[in-house]
Amino acid sequence: MSSKPFNAFQMAQAQFDKVADMLGLDEASKSLLRHPMREYHFSLPVRMDDGTVQVFRGFRVQHNDARGPGKGGIRFHPQETIDTVRALAMWMTWKCAVVNIPLGGSKGGVICEPHNLSTIEQERLCRQWVRQIARDIGPVRDVPAPDVMTSAQHMLWMLDEFEQIHGGKYPGVITGKPVGMGGSLGRTEATGYGVVFTIREALKELNIRPQDTIAAVQGFGNVAQHAIELYEQIGGKVISVSSWSQADQQAYTFVRKDGIDLHGLRKITDRFGGIDKAKAADSGYQVLPGNTWIEQDVDILIPAALENSVTGDNVTKISKQVKLMAEGANGPTTPEADHVLKERGVFVIPDFLANAGGVTCSYLEQVQSNMNYYWEKDEVLGKLDVMMTSAFVDVSNLASKRKLYMRDAAYMIAIARVAQACGDRGWV
Ligand code: NAD
Repeated sequence: MSSKPFNAFQMAQAQFDKVADMLGLDEASKSLLRHPMREYHFSLPVRMDDGTVQVFRGFRVQHNDARGPGKGGIRFHPQETIDTVRALAMWMTWKCAVVNIPLGGSKGGVICEPHNLSTIEQERLCRQWVRQIARDIGPVRDVPAPDVMTSAQHMLWMLDEFEQIHGGKYPGVITGKPVGMGGSLGRTEATGYGVVFTIREALKELNIRPQDTIAAVQGFGNVAQHAIELYEQIGGKVISVSSWSQADQQAYTFVRKDGIDLHGLRKITDRFGGIDKAKAADSGYQVLPGNTWIEQDVDILIPAALENSVTGDNVTKISKQVKLMAEGANGPTTPEADHVLKERGVFVIPDFLANAGGVTCSYLEQVQSNMNYYWEKDEVLGKLDVMMTSAFVDVSNLASKRKLYMRDAAYMIAIARVAQACGDRGWV
């Protein structure tokens, strides 16, 4: 057996190659799209609090901007690699295209461990990152956002540095800013609500009323909590959630057959989405091992915690009752498990469609920032609903017309749109 390390970029390219063949893309388009258009590698000298200078490595990868300015987060992570950033930039291109927003795909990163940096060291690192790339990002070029271990505060420091350099106000250069400082209302809810907009449409297609369904959710963080909130509003019942216990270093599943109490659970959950096990047991929840969320007798599964949760090992434990799975998390299903779900005929809403509410709302933030005029929350969420619904309908129409698995249909739409834009511009 080969022990080759997992390489996200090779995986992204393999996915692309498969769909490019299904689409019959020409060689020039394939060659253009299977690599980033531009990438920047830079050194970031940062003065530390003890007076020494530490040099960090940073990246920005602009995969494709044929459909509009690049969009994608910046991660601070000790194990960051250029290939991870390349893969994530490519996935951003497809995600923006599948929801049909006029943006391309980018991603950035810095190899660092933010837990070991003081607040002021993090601020210097953010400002240094912007100084290296200030001429190659911007509201009409490439628009960063928060990602793993970067926050609204990091975005604000980056915005400030960009504005110092360019001598003007450019709130549209970056998204994920705090509300009141160029951020958008509705961003907190956007990803979880977006998941439910797609579930609602899928249920219509399956001819099932939301009020006749029950669901199990993996995770109880930002995406999971907001997905549960809206799913309950449209009539669904959640009987199981799960979360990671920092104290016990393991996950637990919390089950209440007559339906969980979202409001009550939120009160006993920390800011990382960890549910207090003892208090949950006192409130009438069965506390089970973390991986049992997947075995519940439900109609809908919503993995909304982390990648590689639905695997070859546990996919066979999924109840026969399950008809629909909406991937709130990024990459929750391994290729092996995906194959089983496809064979079983489970309706899977793929991650880059189901959880695209976040990037769609970032686009709406950018639009508001460029106008310097901000909408009420209902207006933002209303536009989000229209855009997510329309994206879902495009993908499911193609899936039914060509008898395709939803994931393949979503990739085909996204890649075809980007290839078309490159062709229309005369690039290929
Ligand atoms: P979060 O940190 O707010 O919540 C994560 C939740 O998962 C927590 O409740 C945590 O306890 C739980 N968890 C962690 N490990 C677990 C395990 N082994 N078993 C069960 N539960 C576990 O994160 P989030 O923002 O809700 O993101 C969740 C997923 O959605 C991630 O894959 C993320 O990349 C993806 N996503 C998030 C957004 C967004 O806007 N927040 C957008 C697109 C995709």
